[in-house]
Amino acid sequence: MNIGVLAVQGDFAEHCHVLRSVGVAATEVRLPKHLEGLDGLIIPGGESTTLSRLMSLYDLRDPVADMVARGKAVWGTCAGMIMLANEITEEDPVPMRLMDVGVQRNAFGRQVDSFEQDLLIRGLGNREYHAIFIRAPVIIRVGAEVEVLAALADGRPVAVQQGNMMATSFHPELTADARIHRYFVSLAGGPAYDPDAPLIDTPRVR
Ligand code: GLN
Repeated sequence: MNIGVLAVQGDFAEHCHVLRSVGVAATEVRLPKHLEGLDGLIIPGGESTTLSRLMSLYDLRDPVADMVARGKAVWGTCAGMIMLANEITEEDPVPMRLMDVGVQRNAFGRQVDSFEQDLLIRGLGNREYHAIFIRAPVIIRVGAEVEVLAALADGRPVAVQQGNMMATSFHPELTADARIHRYFVSLAGGPAYDPDAPLIDTPRVR
């Protein structure tokens, strides 16, 4: 297994750390050639307007779309979720339109309105997942092919899956709980995810 993490901006180092802690090789992706031979790709959180520009500058959009078309697993967290969306509520950034969801950026307000919330996530077992939302986007439209994995108490979806693609509003790379990464690794063709397996928690990296 070798999972790529888009490393042009945002918290890619933390994603690499979690992947390696569960025994999976992680590759930092900055150029299209770095995508060769990967089993999956994580697009991390950060700032989607910057991500959008850098993905265009380094010609990464078409190769990532091609990866999805070839059935490789792709997961966007926070700003990465914005990049995967079909449409967002503003003109900039320009999403890749790969996942049939509509997304609103900064749905909870400014940096001071960031929050943490325990969530039950479909497929991850009965233990709640501690989710960290930082200037987080929220999903405001879910297409017919999209499965909601987790929602807030008010019903707004914050984790979704469409075939081999996954998107989360929050930051699983900042939590000492590697379950979502392990779930993604299984989606990418790795060992089957067992919700009843003992948890292998990862240390916080910052
Ligand atoms: N607010 C950022 C954006 O709109 C996303 C924040 C994040 O990734 N933590 O791109």
